[in-house]
Amino acid sequence: MSEWRAIKGLTIAIDGPSGSGKGTVAKMLAEETGLPVLDTGLLYRLVGSVALARNISLENEPVLAEFVESLLDVITWTVDGIYLNGDNITDSLRSEQAGDAASKVAAMPAVREKLLGLQRKLARKGCIMDGRDIGTVVLPDAPAKFFLTASVRERARRRWAQLKNKGGSSLDAVVAELKMRDQRDMERQHAPLKQATDAIVIDSTTMRADDVVDRMLGVLERRKLITASV
Ligand code: C5P
Repeated sequence: MSEWRAIKGLTIAIDGPSGSGKGTVAKMLAEETGLPVLDTGLLYRLVGSVALARNISLENEPVLAEFVESLLDVITWTVDGIYLNGDNITDSLRSEQAGDAASKVAAMPAVREKLLGLQRKLARKGCIMDGRDIGTVVLPDAPAKFFLTASVRERARRRWAQLKNKGGSSLDAVVAELKMRDQRDMERQHAPLKQATDAIVIDSTTMRADDVVDRMLGVLERRKLITASV
C-alpha cells in the first residue's frame, strides 16, 4: 500500500532533459502516492518510430500531422505504455533511434497540437506526468511542478549504463547524442524544454533517486497535496 494519500485529481508535472531521471523518479513517486504515471515521451517516440517504419518523411509537417491523427485512432496510451492495434509496443520505443526520431517530430507545432488533447484528457483524473513541456504547456495549472536536471556527463553515464548490456554505443557517443538532443529540445520554437517559472528545480547530479523523491514528497506534504496514510 502507498505510504501517502494524494488529494483527489492531483496532477504533478515533472519536466527535464533526457537522462535526468524523470522516469525513475516518477515511478518511485507513484509507488509512494498511488498516483498513475504517464510518460509523454512515449507519444513522440511512437510518432517518430512508426513514421520511420512506414517511410514517412520526418520533415513533412502537414503529412506527419495527418499521420498522428490516424495513429490516435489505433493506439491506447496507458500507465503500462502504448498499445498499437492491441499490442504493447513500449519496449520497442525505448531505442536511441526512436528517441532521435521523437525529438525531430516533437519540434513540429502541428504534431504537438494533435497530441495535446490526449495528454490533457488522460491527466484529468490525477497523475504524475513527465516530459518536456508539462509544467509550461500541457498542465500549466498543476499544483506541483518539478524540473529535474543533472550534468550532461552524469546523464550520459546513466543512459550508457542502461545501453551497455544491450551492445550500445561508447560513453562519448552517448554524450554527443545527448548534447544534440538537448539542443534540439531547448532551441525549438514551439514548447521548448524550459523550466516553468513556478517549478522547483532539482539538480540530481550527485543525488540518489530516493533522495530526489524524498525532496518531492516534502514539497507535496508542505503544500497539503498529500497526507500520510496511516
Ligand atoms: O523523454 P523521452 O526521451 O522519451 O522523449 C523523447 C523526445 O520526445 C524528447 O527528446 C523530446 O524531443 C520529445 N518530447 C517532447 N515533449 C514531451 C516529451 C518528449 O518534446 N512532453
